Amino acid sequence: MDELLQSLLSAVTGTFSSADIQLVERAYNFAFKAHTNQTRLNGMPFITHSVGTAELLAQWKLPPLLVVAGLLHDVPEDTPLTISDIEKEFGKEIANIVEGETKLDHLKYQGVERYAENLRKMFLAIASDIRVIFVKFADRIHNLQTLEGIPEYKQQRIALESLEIYAPIANRLGMGAIRGELEDLSFKYVHPAEYAWVTSLVQDRLKYKEGYLETIKTIIEKDLKQGGIIPISIHGRTKHLYSLYKKLLEKDRDISKVYDIVAERIIVPTVQDCYATLGILHQRWKPLKGRIKDYIAQPKPNGYQSIHTTIFCDDGEIVEFQIRTPQMHEEAEYGIAAHWFYVDKGKKIVVMDHHLSWLKDLVKIQKNINDRTKFLEALESLKIDFFNNRIFVFTPNGDVIDLPEGATPVDFAYAIHTEIGNHCTSARVNDKMTQLNVPLQSGDVVKITTDKNRKGPSPDWLDSVKTNHARAKIKEAVKKTKFSGWLRELVHHRKSN
Ligand code: MN
Repeated sequence: MDELLQSLLSAVTGTFSSADIQLVERAYNFAFKAHTNQTRLNGMPFITHSVGTAELLAQWKLPPLLVVAGLLHDVPEDTPLTISDIEKEFGKEIANIVEGETKLDHLKYQGVERYAENLRKMFLAIASDIRVIFVKFADRIHNLQTLEGIPEYKQQRIALESLEIYAPIANRLGMGAIRGELEDLSFKYVHPAEYAWVTSLVQDRLKYKEGYLETIKTIIEKDLKQGGIIPISIHGRTKHLYSLYKKLLEKDRDISKVYDIVAERIIVPTVQDCYATLGILHQRWKPLKGRIKDYIAQPKPNGYQSIHTTIFCDDGEIVEFQIRTPQMHEEAEYGIAAHWFYVDKGKKIVVMDHHLSWLKDLVKIQKNINDRTKFLEALESLKIDFFNNRIFVFTPNGDVIDLPEGATPVDFAYAIHTEIGNHCTSARVNDKMTQLNVPLQSGDVVKITTDKNRKGPSPDWLDSVKTNHARAKIKEAVKKTKFSGWLRELVHHRKSN
């Protein structure tokens, strides 16, 4: 068997049913055929990217259909096969996820701020199916892992976007492992010198601490046992490089002021065990004042739970401890993905609550990031309901235009420019000729054809447009033409109905 397929299958064996494994194999063959003879910018066969993406999704313990979507995610964009081919072969649900992922790709990079603005809007638009985001994260992380050998300006663009947009979203979703990976992989390209500095700091520190932590571990194990607690694991964890870097910047680059470069993480079976463990630690060693944080009773805004305490251990060495249950651990690493992982065995997956709080968080991020841009003003008053009734469509250049649900190509044309609205003659939606009165869908790419010689808008458009803007502009233009009398009658007629 093919080595790539073998490595992917080994990532899902044991978790997936044999039917699901067959499905993954089928998707692999489909993607393999579709991407035949395609190579990536780094010279590797394209299929390595599809498999890399799918493998990440499998590592995050996401359900089979997401692993399949990962394999197929670049098929509609980069091969002659389409979404409907995928639907025929793999069903509507998988096709929808792939389609959502593909739509996110229509965004073009046009300066960081503009891109950020587009991407944030799009994330909201796609929020109707959050699973798309996981495929996007996996796609992005695999791209970051394979940046070597591609042009430098592309490396910079991808790394910067990941740092500025993807990582904050992963953080808000409580996906610590994914956030850490996005940040650390990007860090290397965005600030190479700083990256080297922080890496060497950590290596020195690790060398120094490793033996020490082993000794501490033995003492803790004994103490816990006496207290009737059997820990699931005790291990040293190194802080992610980029978050360490950010902390160092806060502390005047003074490494001795950062206590959690290496922390001892204790995972115990229950919440009660967590508190008991804290007591046992404090009985043996003295905690630092003001460094005991109970994120179990008071979780962080993104849902993070654990107890943290920093302790003067033997020989005056300062060590941070993080105490949590296995479930808290999964959630800290994988965020809402962990919920899917827990709900299985044929039960319907319910993510509504998390879905909503995720949306709320996104709106918050949006506001934070927007402080830095003028776009803030426009978004200040937005509510979630507002977004529920909006669609987001693209110009052929990748700009996002937001419109109310049911909006037509005419609304779109007027949203771009009054002249385009007044002179539009036809529309292509996703490369297909479409009537000017047919409602658009989120993610559509709309191209308007205009005719300079056209006298003005058709009064009929008033029956189908949804935006006040388009309506007002059509009326204004029509008034100027010979139809104005006729229009007044029409308007009067409509009102009296
Ligand atoms: Mn991709």
